[in-house]
Amino acid sequence: VKVTNGSANVESEIPAVAHPLAQDPKEIASNINYHAQYSPHFSPFKFEPEQAYYATAESVRDQLIKQWNETYSHYHKVNPKQTYYLSMEYLQGRALTNAVGNLDLRNAYADALKQLGHELEDVVEQEKDAALGNGGLGRLASCFLDSMATLNLPAWGYGLRYRYGLFKQRITKAGQEETAEDWLEKFSPWEVVRHDVVFPIRFFGQVEVDPSGSRKWVGGEVIQALAYDVPIPGYKTKNTNSLRLWEAKASARDFDLFQFNDGQYESAAQLHSSAQQICAVLYPGDATEGGKLLRLKQQFFLCSASLQDIIARFKEREDEIKWSEFPSKVAVQMNDTHPTLAIPELMRLLMDDEALGWDEAWDITTRTVAYTNHTVLPEALEKWSQAVMWKLLPRHMEIITEIDKRFITMIKSTRPDLEGKLPDLRVLDNNPQKAVVRMANLCVVSSHTVNGVAQLHSDILKAELFSDYVSIWPIKFQNKTNGITPRRWLKFCNPELSQIITKWLKTDKWVTNLDLLTNLRQFADDADLHAEWYSAKLASKQRLAHYILQVTGVTIDPNTLFDIQVKRIHEYKRQLLNILGAIYRYKKLKAMSPEERKNTTPRTIMIGGKAFATYTNAKRIVKLVDDVGAVVNSDPEVNEFLKVIFVPNYNVSVAEVLIPGSELSQHISTAGMEASGTSNMKFALNGCLIIGTLDGANVEIREEVGEENFFLFGATADEVPRLRKERERGLFKPDPRFEEAKKFIRSGAFGSYDYNPLLESLEGDSGYGRADYFLVGHDFASYMDAQERVDEAYKDRKRWTKMSILSTAGSGKFSSDRTIAQYASEIWKIQECPVPSA
Ligand code: PLP
Repeated sequence: VKVTNGSANVESEIPAVAHPLAQDPKEIASNINYHAQYSPHFSPFKFEPEQAYYATAESVRDQLIKQWNETYSHYHKVNPKQTYYLSMEYLQGRALTNAVGNLDLRNAYADALKQLGHELEDVVEQEKDAALGNGGLGRLASCFLDSMATLNLPAWGYGLRYRYGLFKQRITKAGQEETAEDWLEKFSPWEVVRHDVVFPIRFFGQVEVDPSGSRKWVGGEVIQALAYDVPIPGYKTKNTNSLRLWEAKASARDFDLFQFNDGQYESAAQLHSSAQQICAVLYPGDATEGGKLLRLKQQFFLCSASLQDIIARFKEREDEIKWSEFPSKVAVQMNDTHPTLAIPELMRLLMDDEALGWDEAWDITTRTVAYTNHTVLPEALEKWSQAVMWKLLPRHMEIITEIDKRFITMIKSTRPDLEGKLPDLRVLDNNPQKAVVRMANLCVVSSHTVNGVAQLHSDILKAELFSDYVSIWPIKFQNKTNGITPRRWLKFCNPELSQIITKWLKTDKWVTNLDLLTNLRQFADDADLHAEWYSAKLASKQRLAHYILQVTGVTIDPNTLFDIQVKRIHEYKRQLLNILGAIYRYKKLKAMSPEERKNTTPRTIMIGGKAFATYTNAKRIVKLVDDVGAVVNSDPEVNEFLKVIFVPNYNVSVAEVLIPGSELSQHISTAGMEASGTSNMKFALNGCLIIGTLDGANVEIREEVGEENFFLFGATADEVPRLRKERERGLFKPDPRFEEAKKFIRSGAFGSYDYNPLLESLEGDSGYGRADYFLVGHDFASYMDAQERVDEAYKDRKRWTKMSILSTAGSGKFSSDRTIAQYASEIWKIQECPVPSA
């Protein structure tokens, strides 16, 4: 067989054989070769990195399919209680490195590819990120899937198969530009379509009542949900769970051939085009307006398809159907309020299709569903127009209205003291101007458990947003501090550091028991460990510098302090505070003598993240960072001491390069506004120090790594309301450094773009009805002071390296294995169900 590898022609003697369970590099190579020849997607005899990627991925999928099928039949046989995680978002990133790593076949695959003339590192770069999510919430869902499989838990994810994921970001002279991310342009080798798993999903229509009084939803339009499954392998375990993504389809019956032949092309395929729209794009979650009806359709599509599937599986696995057993076989977790319609849909399916009465259906539903809250920002709490809901989902609105009515009755009879608060506590807000359904209230009223995602966030939920509900159902409310998978976020993305950890701990068990990292503490002063730690960090910094040169054309020096802030661009995350600090630093450097500059700590500040397309202030921040970079980086006087980079198109794969190479990372949201954050955990785990506020999981990270290893600044959550009031009353005295930084922008130092609206948001009306709502001005002084402490600490390499080691050593708590084990035992009540080895 002749295969062509890029420039070189490789004469290969390797046979093409399908080996579904190859372990040996030779067999693996022949399996890859088999796919290159017999599952061809390209012209024959081409074997460049792209072809090598698809053939390799298919070979890995062969390995997965066997244990995936075994997992399914094992769960079917044992029939354990199973969790179904419902999420509108999954930020999966690439799958190849993760799959060969979890199968423990990384080296075998690397050897096999070498035999075929390729490097695994180049081949994995060919894969496009599956970016079916916006940010933290979606990435959390993906980390959870990895932990569920690794812990051998019977737990599946359900989501939507968006044709286009989160947009691709390009930075031009005009700032951020968005283009569609075509992750399915060729195809995804990881998904398997299940042509036998199809459910009808109805929209619109009306409710019919038959003479017996039972109600049925009929008419409207019916679209088909078709299942695409993605295998989720656990780490070094046979258990391979599923992520089931639904695609919307119209059937051939819905294609009006008569109309088409009559030239009425659009109306002939009307339902087809309506179906296509449902899964066309990931809804930009940070938006508040636009495409409301389509978003609601997407949410219902996910909920209805998933629940029909769950019920079908329940029936299939039970010999005799006892509905009261349903909650002991099924746990449904709603990732934020996006899948709230699971509640009325489960009620409808139980009452209208299975003929249960209200009380029984309500008992089953409320024992099945649980809700995770991800935000306290009022503008992010979902509310749907009652008018739109009555039109799209008339039967569900009847059910929601009944839930609301029964809630009122319950309060009046058991908690008359809360009657006055009913207008806020009810599910329906009947304000005649804008009658809405409050999805968070529906979730709280209907779920057996409600959880926040970090201790501080859960405390705020209990004390503020949901305080009255807590008084009604005190045991309903829990905390589940978020976590991250140590496989993707340390072992696979940072092999140098992982090897050092394994060597010093004399075990690699930390990969599935991250608490073992605390044992690194005893070596925190060891000079040998320091040398190894430093050189691993330097290697990651060099790789990052190479990446930055590739994507921006700017050379950065790996001997400078690498300071990174990557996350969605949002005013509450305060990238503006970061860049104002950088601007002040630049100004100060300019004013120094060459000798004075030599005593400073040279820094490379990297900021990255996507701004939602219509979020104007966020886009202005992107533009400002890029403009500041253009000026600073080309200033020969200072660019040895400061560089500012906007890292384009931040996504999971970019995070995997940035995080290992980071030394300082910024998690600087206004206190009380970031529910948890998860990238803070990833940075800390990789030995990166945090400069941050007492917000979200920062609080717990600081507790775990030690106060002395965390650069703290800023107002605390309980001070924020008072500070905002004082600011409004004109009682705020800005720090001169803050004023200087703003003045510098106004002077035109960074170009002629109109930054006034951005600066005014810090001074006048910030668009939230109040000046500087996010308290950038108030926190600026303590932020700059903390940055000075960073500069001082970095000058002492021994001290910094020790802090870095202690940061990793203190990150054990933030494994998503810990989070998922807590969900499993405290919310879902599910047990592990390991697939036996043959
Ligand atoms: N976006 C991507 C691509 C990520 O990988 C992550 C987490 O690592 C996030 C967003 C969430 O970041 P944060 O927790 O800083 O908001």
